[in-house]
Amino acid sequence: MLKFGAYPIKVNYNLHTRLRNKDKEDQLHLAGQYLEERKLDMKVNTSSDATIENNMYRQEMNDYEQAVCSLLRKIDGNRVGRMVLGHINKKTTVWIVPKSDEELKHDNSAQTHPLNYDIQTNGMYVRGYGSGDTVILYNPELGDGVLLHELVHAYRYSFDKFVPVNLDYSNGYSRYTTTSEEILAHVIQNIYLSEAKQPLCLDYKSYWDGSTKEETYKVLVGNERLMWILNYFLRHEYLATMAAHTFKTTEYNPFRDFATLEAASLKTRPLVPASEEPMPVAP
Ligand SMILES: [Zn+2]
Repeated sequence: MLKFGAYPIKVNYNLHTRLRNKDKEDQLHLAGQYLEERKLDMKVNTSSDATIENNMYRQEMNDYEQAVCSLLRKIDGNRVGRMVLGHINKKTTVWIVPKSDEELKHDNSAQTHPLNYDIQTNGMYVRGYGSGDTVILYNPELGDGVLLHELVHAYRYSFDKFVPVNLDYSNGYSRYTTTSEEILAHVIQNIYLSEAKQPLCLDYKSYWDGSTKEETYKVLVGNERLMWILNYFLRHEYLATMAAHTFKTTEYNPFRDFATLEAASLKTRPLVPASEEPMPVAP
């Protein structure tokens, strides 16, 4: 287990501990013993494979933890990344742990959820609600942009601000439904990529890499709901306000460019819906 610098982040290789406890966790869930299930899950996520017989997984543990720390150093070396890292609530801990091959086969992406997640009374296997300490399921092959994205979620959870609101949008080709939290993480991820002079992702859901600032701005301007949520974050989320006032030279920064984007967005539709246009008054 490696603590990353002065940040409240612990990189913890616990793959084999998790695999060994998976059946037990599943059984507890099926038996409706959700409190016990969460207790075991919290123990597993905070235990290191170093405790397994004679530290037999030492090599793969070192490889994983060094690889993740090296990506965290890369994030720390980027102004946008450093802003995110520096704002995670220091009274909490972010646990970064690996996914198994089986889990990756099922879903080749990263996830963040609270360590002490809210239990769903209807028995649903949902761990995304709650706040405080977080667990990021992450593998280094996913790259630094994805890790930065998850750290934005961890930051929001750490201050009990993670409140996903559903919204849909179109990128000009397809329609997607996502949440406000994903849009925030996606936009900050793109500002980070732009600062690093890496290609941008067109929008959150389509995973189109290699987009330009103009293409990504076009998706924002063309979707009232996306503009609405950017405006919301600009007024209420410190990371967005900071980004707007700090990163003057970063090419992609819709928080900084919001006034221009909003003006362009208003031009795409009439201010008064046609049905409410005033009727001509008879002379
Ligand atoms: Zn996300």
